[in-house]
Amino acid sequence: MKKKVSIIGSGFSSLAASCYLAQAGYEVTIYEKNDSIGGRARQLKKEGFTFDMGPSWYWMPDVFERFFSDFDKSTSDYYSLQKLNPAYKVFFGNAESITIEDTLEKIKIRFEKEEPGSSIKLQKFIDAAQNNYNVAIKQLVYRPGVSPFELVTPETIKKIGQFFSTIARDVRKEFKNPKLIQILEFPVLFLGAKPSDTPSFYSFMNYADFGLGTWHPEGGMFKVIKGIHDLAISLGVQIKTGANITSINVNPQKEVVSITVNDREIKTPLVLCGSDYHHSESLLEPQYRQYSEKYWESRTFAPSSLLFYVGFDKKLINIDHHNLFFDVDFEQHAKEIYDDPQWPQEPLFYANFTSVTDASTAPGGCENGFFLVPIAPGIEDNEMLRETYFKKIISRFEKLTDQEVEKNIIFKESYCVKDFIEDYNSYKGNAYGMANTLLQTAFLRPKLKSALVKGLFFTGQLTVPGPGVPPALISGKLVSGLIQKEHNL
Ligand SMILES: Cc1cc2nc3c(=O)[nH]c(=O)nc-3n(C[C@H](O)[C@H](O)[C@H](O)COP(=O)(O)OP(=O)(O)OC[C@H]3O[C@@H](n4cnc5c(N)ncnc54)[C@H](O)[C@@H]3O)c2cc1C
Repeated sequence: MKKKVSIIGSGFSSLAASCYLAQAGYEVTIYEKNDSIGGRARQLKKEGFTFDMGPSWYWMPDVFERFFSDFDKSTSDYYSLQKLNPAYKVFFGNAESITIEDTLEKIKIRFEKEEPGSSIKLQKFIDAAQNNYNVAIKQLVYRPGVSPFELVTPETIKKIGQFFSTIARDVRKEFKNPKLIQILEFPVLFLGAKPSDTPSFYSFMNYADFGLGTWHPEGGMFKVIKGIHDLAISLGVQIKTGANITSINVNPQKEVVSITVNDREIKTPLVLCGSDYHHSESLLEPQYRQYSEKYWESRTFAPSSLLFYVGFDKKLINIDHHNLFFDVDFEQHAKEIYDDPQWPQEPLFYANFTSVTDASTAPGGCENGFFLVPIAPGIEDNEMLRETYFKKIISRFEKLTDQEVEKNIIFKESYCVKDFIEDYNSYKGNAYGMANTLLQTAFLRPKLKSALVKGLFFTGQLTVPGPGVPPALISGKLVSGLIQKEHNL
């Protein structure tokens, strides 16, 4: 008889793990509390507009390709990819902006215009970042974070200093122009912490940005979820939506015996939690939880977000597919996220308009806008605050892009802390999980395998290797490897 694995959640990490486990011969069922799959990467389709509700930057295409190739498939079997040119546009104050194009050569020319001599420094910086990428993404992240020795390799020993310096320090050593500094510090924001708290080794994110480029799956990021879903189904995975898990049940021998799904007990010897780690442990009796409330309280969490999904009844001008609005003080905003959590006075924000390059995502002559303001997790969230911030960013948007847009809004929905908690059982309403800082890297993150309960495993952005879609795919692979090792068929 096949061994049964029950997976909680249908985010990227759960879907990825389900494919590996089904391929290895397990009987896999996914239980998702929401009515649609994808977790934070769900899709919102309304009034002819299509929005990705969460992730929008398709970076590290090699990781996606490696995932599908593990099943003798390719990304092109499920979706088509376009390399964006320009990759993105960054707005600064005084009506200035910098467009980042699709090759390092073009980006170097743009850097040189801002700061003479910077193109040579940029080449050196990206060469080192590429070297880190080869060590980190091709080797280290595929290790399960079980022991510190996983990180000790001939390559990492040479790089030890890079774990004790920071991206902020390295960038400032080489570049003096504040705009270039902000651009080079932007990629590590995906890891969920301040550049001044992110080890230099993470410069591999800069190689992902300038070296590998920004891609777009036609139809949006949800096409990737759909692709992995189709792969999972073809491998025999069962997916149940509207299936809320309310407890993980353990016997006196400290073995998983069952889960409770919508008040019904389902027997299962193996449970893999792809729901947020903090919530997953709350499904256990307290004595079976590995991490205390004090532990979670003391971690650096990645930000939450105030999001707006907006439909405009016209095409907008002076924007690209991805746009960063860095026209206010980043240091102040970062303090209001990490050091003294509160609503930011003047927030940086990000906006994407996938309809600029992908006509399938908005009705003809219209534009779909996704606006994101990073905020501290756990802060107060109400309609009035959301609207105040919408007014703030949309008026800045109009000024910086030199057009009126507010009166052209025909569709608008917001999403914030309360929704992250209600929809995903997210700890404090975090958007991107637990940050990757020096003390929250690899074996120092919450573990993939429970040390207290036999047959219980975890995956996703609060565990190894960290936040983001590529790490979620890797997390699914790592945990399925551990399950196969410990509970082989
Ligand atoms: C606004 C936003 C923007 C982002 N932008 C990017 C980006 O541009 N690029 C990038 O690479 N990454 C980005 N990310 C991060 C990326 O989306 C996540 O890291 C990734 O999708 C997380 O996947 P996961 O499997 O860990 O968790 P999730 O997607 O959160 O999946 C967990 C699932 O568990 C379900 N669940 C919870 N509790 C239960 C229960 N009791 N019973 C049943 N099911 C349950 C939830 O409903 C959810 O579906 C972004 C995230 C957000 C929110």
